[in-house]
Amino acid sequence: MKAFSFLTEDGLIQIGVEYQEKLYNFSQGWEIYKQLKGNGQGPELGFLQVMVEADFFQVETLQEVVFALREAQPLDDFLLKTPVRFLPPVGRPQKILCIGRNYQEHAKELGNPVPSEPVFFSKAPSSLNAHEQEIKLPPNVGRVDFEGELAMVVGRRAQNVPESQAMACIAGYSLLNDVTARDMQRADQKAGRPWFRSKSFDTFCPIGPFLVPRDMLSNTDALQLNVRVNGEVRQSATVSQMIFGLAEIVSYLSKHCTLEPGDIIATGTPAGVGKLHSGDTVEIEIIEIGSLKNIVK
Ligand code: MG
Repeated sequence: MKAFSFLTEDGLIQIGVEYQEKLYNFSQGWEIYKQLKGNGQGPELGFLQVMVEADFFQVETLQEVVFALREAQPLDDFLLKTPVRFLPPVGRPQKILCIGRNYQEHAKELGNPVPSEPVFFSKAPSSLNAHEQEIKLPPNVGRVDFEGELAMVVGRRAQNVPESQAMACIAGYSLLNDVTARDMQRADQKAGRPWFRSKSFDTFCPIGPFLVPRDMLSNTDALQLNVRVNGEVRQSATVSQMIFGLAEIVSYLSKHCTLEPGDIIATGTPAGVGKLHSGDTVEIEIIEIGSLKNIVK
């Protein structure tokens, strides 16, 4: 069971759930569920980020609601009309933190040394973009690259957490494209300047479509990330090939800045990054999580 955020025809942001390959309106179902349980005063769950921040985003919660509704009335009553207008699963993170050079072959392809401890940087939250929306190439910045990555969304405040407790702070997993103005990044690196601006243009952070509860994925090492541009496979790696694993990343980050619920962590990209051209379709896929697709404008 996977969750997502979407925009209704009336312009409302709501929570959806994917169950048995169909998409349902979870926000609408939640209101009925509360009545079924005689608790009309239960929390409002209009926004997936609210559910995450309330530490309420668990597979058990999603299942309990969907199964209770299924007992009471046909689930098709909550079926979403297609096409669904997806939004980023969490739309207002306090920060987006990204790990750089977390796959050996990718560090080598850009001529960088393999790091001995995690390298991290951030993207502006205003760069967030959704599934099936356009990545806009800014004028006069030269080469712009795709970077397919596994993303984690923080579910509990994490400050100085040891690796053994790190994953308990994660609400779930998603897919992210760490779009990068590569020429600008290289020039800034060479000049000893931060490369924040090359990562932060509007539309440079597609994420989604789904947020998969952490407990749904027990063996994250086996997850296979594939990136296709115009249908051709360009990046392919498993999470086990990361230099720094997921728990190590969360623990390390939390020693430098407090992770807040709703924050997004991008875990680094494998080898095979490349230039985007206007008209390209970029697709980032991990079968168990979904497929994030964007067209380049
Ligand atoms: Mg990256």
